[in-house]
Amino acid sequence: MSDNIVLHKQLINARILKNYGSWMYCNKCNSVIGYLCYTTYEYFMFSFTCNCGEHGSIELGSKESLGINASHTLLLKNGRLCCPFDQSPLFSIVGRNLKEYDYKVVCKKCINSFEEKIES
Ligand SMILES: [Zn+2]
Ligand SMILES: [Zn+2]
Repeated sequence: MSDNIVLHKQLINARILKNYGSWMYCNKCNSVIGYLCYTTYEYFMFSFTCNCGEHGSIELGSKESLGINASHTLLLKNGRLCCPFDQSPLFSIVGRNLKEYDYKVVCKKCINSFEEKIES
């Protein structure tokens, strides 16, 4: 994603190392909660409850770009969640640092959207 594109960005109790990607952290305890690839998502929303008890969320991109709702699950390859249609690497989650989380992601390449909710 080029730096001169401005994406909607909302971070609640969370940090992200770079502008629109890289490592994601809980603001309260600084635990790594995941890693987001920079260039492969059209929309990304991740909300979590950290092991420290903090609730937070990260939203990048516009909800209006919500894609075709695919009833497929993402592929897990080398620890990274990937689009099952075009193998685009999307993000990874450090599940051991989280009590609960849910996400919605739209792959930039095929505009399919994927979501999942993991409860403790
Ligand atoms: Zn935390
Ligand atoms: Zn895709």
